[in-house]
Amino acid sequence: MRAVVVHAAADLRVEDVPAPEVPEGGALVRVVYGGICGSDLHYARDGRNGPYAVTEPLTLGHEVVGVVERLGAGVVAPAVGTRVAVHPATPSAPAGAVEPTGLHLRRGGAYLGSASTQPHTQGGLTELLAVRAAQLRPLPDGLPLRRAVLAEPLAVALHGVGRLGSRVAGARALVSGAGPIGALAVAALKHAGAAHVTAADLQALPLAVAGRVGADALVDLSAGGTVPEEAFDVAVEAAGVLPSLRTAIRAVRPGGAVLQLGILPAGDLPVPVSDVVAREVALFGTQRFDTELDAAVALLAADESLAAVVTDVFGVEDAVAAFARAADSAASSKTVVQLGPDPDLP
Ligand SMILES: [Zn+2]
Repeated sequence: MRAVVVHAAADLRVEDVPAPEVPEGGALVRVVYGGICGSDLHYARDGRNGPYAVTEPLTLGHEVVGVVERLGAGVVAPAVGTRVAVHPATPSAPAGAVEPTGLHLRRGGAYLGSASTQPHTQGGLTELLAVRAAQLRPLPDGLPLRRAVLAEPLAVALHGVGRLGSRVAGARALVSGAGPIGALAVAALKHAGAAHVTAADLQALPLAVAGRVGADALVDLSAGGTVPEEAFDVAVEAAGVLPSLRTAIRAVRPGGAVLQLGILPAGDLPVPVSDVVAREVALFGTQRFDTELDAAVALLAADESLAAVVTDVFGVEDAVAAFARAADSAASSKTVVQLGPDPDLP
């Protein structure tokens, strides 16, 4: 079967790999779509993602939807043929834990398509994927796979916005950076009751997508637009670049809050901390997500407008071109790779 495999920096290949066995206590999923995430782009370009270096061939992808193909011994549901999203995390749960929260912050554990483990945890940009039964999330009937592929990044946005807690309801909010994760943060903020959401970006296409998923105001920074200072209750940094974080910090009112949702470069960074201190700005970190995948699936089912975030679909044979498109933020929001026939399409 075919898989999208990174071997080293700038060495991404579509190649044949052995099909997995159906795992005991798990299932084989026939993957239909896999989204390309910023971390996948880092692996493909740099051969590493933050501290995690590729030291053996790594199938990328952790934003996966498909159809249950076969069930392993001891698994009775969901039935073969069920359309599912895949939870990418296998946390290292404490012994005896029953659906605890906060597992995503525990050390250890595994995540699909990640070099954080040795051997690496192979990912979902592949035709057949073996998963634990607990990773399967059956999709509601009315939710097409092509929209459901946003479940993982939307869960990331919901978890991040959730970190802001009761500050969001009724708030004036800024999202700085309107790429796929920024657009989904707009949706998460609106869903959490923000009164008015402004999206700011340097590119027209991401701003248009942010508008389609609910942004009330758009600021095109490349066309003379500026983000006003001290004008927002909360700000979400979703570009993962330092100028955007500085903008976010200065954009919130005294006592406001900033969520760092984008992935900033590693290491010590020059940030105007005195500004954070003097104006009592609360600065929140956020990491992947905890229990929000089910809420993400429900929100995707309820809100058709979110389909606008998926701007590009490439067949697996064109996966290298798909990665180039995904890296071009002026030309795309979420780019997905199609690995098998979509049962939702005629
Ligand atoms: Zn992702």
